Amino acid sequence: MSVEKRDTVVVDGMALASELRERLAREVSDLVADGRRAPRLAVVLVGDNPASASYIKGKRRACARAGIDSLEEDLPESATEAQVLAVIERLNADPGVDGILVQLPLPKQIRALVVTEATSPEKDVDGLHTQNAGRLLAGLPGLRPCTPLGILEVLARHRVPIEGANAVVIGRSILVGKPIALLLLERNATVTMCHSRTRDLAAVCREADILVAAAGSPLLVKGDWIKPGSAVIDLGVNVIDGRQTGDVDFDAALGVAGLLTPSRGGVGPLTITMLLHNTLQAYRRRMAP
Ligand code: NAP
Repeated sequence: MSVEKRDTVVVDGMALASELRERLAREVSDLVADGRRAPRLAVVLVGDNPASASYIKGKRRACARAGIDSLEEDLPESATEAQVLAVIERLNADPGVDGILVQLPLPKQIRALVVTEATSPEKDVDGLHTQNAGRLLAGLPGLRPCTPLGILEVLARHRVPIEGANAVVIGRSILVGKPIALLLLERNATVTMCHSRTRDLAAVCREADILVAAAGSPLLVKGDWIKPGSAVIDLGVNVIDGRQTGDVDFDAALGVAGLLTPSRGGVGPLTITMLLHNTLQAYRRRMAP
């Protein structure tokens, strides 16, 4: 699940993800053995962005391995918003579909927020519908965004204490920064949210027992910004000279952080795993009497 490098535990997200996926697969196979249908995820791809097509392929492969059915709805790059909404409406009404995922980014003529809001909140496995975001804010059960759930899995697996910890989150997106801040707050961390206007980001980071970097700014977090022994979660996926680089200076963080997730093979594999988890959750809620 991890390797130790200069006193820093480097998280092996692939190993943790595969263990969680095996557990999910067992849950699904138990359901099927009980005579129930398998959960089903619908993925909607608009356009021909090669990165999106590859992400969808990875997600569908992960579904298949876990015994979750998936289906794909492909629309051309020229599709109108109305055409995409018609597909969403059909999937919302389909009793055999438990989760709907619309791969982002969408072509510019289609508003992502309109599409997310059109998705049934019960099938919103990305946890981005404002009803699910509002339920998170209110502390009510609901579908949560996948990457923040993956971060919680990493912290839980490595027994990082959250209650009472100083947690610093860099980034305030609806996808990562805001939901992880709320989830850590819900677990009684003292949370500070940082963004591009934060004064003296380095000083704020130095107080962090848990530091979540989700800025998309390469090597933003230097070694001397890190509190010795802290848990550092690097979500940044940046490419410099063809090499993937995180938001944290990984080499400088080694030997300072107690726990560190690499940009590649860190939280990423858990994001897909939590999509499977959310699909199963959505299925269970829909099937509940
Ligand atoms: P986003 O929507 O671009 O938001 C970036 C946030 O970071 C903004 O709130 C921005 O502040 C803040 N920020 C940017 N540069 C900063 C700086 N120099 N100092 C302080 N704050 C700064 O990003 P996102 O969608 O949350 O993604 C963030 C990163 O995580 C990206 O690299 C993305 O690829 C990666 N990601 C990884 C996964 C995974 O599974 N590993 C999943 C999702 C995203 P303002 O609000 O003030 O502009």
